[in-house]
Amino acid sequence: MIIVTGGAGFIGSNFILKFLSTSDENLLNLDNLSYAANLSNLAIIESNPRYSFVKMDIQNHRKVEALIKKVKPRAILNFAAESHVDRSIEGPETFINTNILGTYSLLKASLDYWKNLSKKEKEIFRFFHISTDEVFGSLNLNDEKSTEESAYKPNSPYSASKAASDHLVRAWHHTFKLPTLVSNCTNNYGPHQHEEKLIPLIITKALKNKNLPIYGDGKNIRDWLYVEDHCEAIMKILEKGKPGETYNIGGNCEKSNLEVVNKICEILDSLNPKKDGSLYREQIKFVNDRPGHDFRYSLDTSKIEYNLNWKSKESFSSGLAKTVQWYLERS
Ligand code: NAD
Repeated sequence: MIIVTGGAGFIGSNFILKFLSTSDENLLNLDNLSYAANLSNLAIIESNPRYSFVKMDIQNHRKVEALIKKVKPRAILNFAAESHVDRSIEGPETFINTNILGTYSLLKASLDYWKNLSKKEKEIFRFFHISTDEVFGSLNLNDEKSTEESAYKPNSPYSASKAASDHLVRAWHHTFKLPTLVSNCTNNYGPHQHEEKLIPLIITKALKNKNLPIYGDGKNIRDWLYVEDHCEAIMKILEKGKPGETYNIGGNCEKSNLEVVNKICEILDSLNPKKDGSLYREQIKFVNDRPGHDFRYSLDTSKIEYNLNWKSKESFSSGLAKTVQWYLERS
């Protein structure tokens, strides 16, 4: 049995679908069903006997501890987080609570459980914390990509809270020897993403004939990874990663926001041309920039490629076309 927290969100739900279809282990999804959750992402496995769901907040230490003791997982994967930078600027408190105190609560419960396992079970157990490239802060165009050794320089309440949680995980390994794994991943895209995030936001607004908002001049750069590639990387790290280590995951696919939006418009023009013959990119509207908007994130992924033999498979064009098609079918 493994426990996945935050499994009703975007990446967690994609991970659950992939895990259940490729492994024969049981999986328990623990999620507090925040605004970002969507259990219908998991409708097709709802009645799978190997899957179970518990509505619970990771901050509720007493309940989390009792659950872990009851189900005896061989691994806990922590996807649960407040994840939207704009929301962290409007209201940082839930980010501090879920991302920092929630991770602390899980670490505490995991350590109490782990300490009482047999020697063999102790060796097998993993606490896997899913994190982001944003902890490394903003890069300039000519800066080297961030490696696992780069200094943490978080700039937003979101990235600062994720950085704090990464540090807690590091400390629980170093001090208490809890067998932890941490992955820091670049921007994900694909099916089941919340409509507030850039790619689904642009697709849904485009289809409703609304303005396509782009922050500032649209030159900010992110690296993009198809969510299934991320899930495969997580499975690889869970299987082969070394306790105490952190792994960068990325698509080696840097694009400016404007490039991403133009590409979505191009795909929509071909898959769903407008009746009046106009082009979707005519809906683009530059809006006031996000405060403290980081210019560029980019990760060096050589460690996971060489040590664990993982590489992203999906190209940006094919992954984005699949993603646009998925949202089109549900519009
Ligand atoms: P998401 O916002 O789509 O999903 C988060 C899930 O966590 C939701 O189902 C929500 O209900 C749940 N949750 C939130 N607070 C909780 C709490 N206190 N207790 C229990 N459950 C709670 O996020 P996502 O995009 O799927 O991201 C998952 C993880 O991956 C996050 O840790 C995020 O920092 C990290 N990450 C995301 C990206 C990305 O591009 N989306 C990139 C790198 C890393």
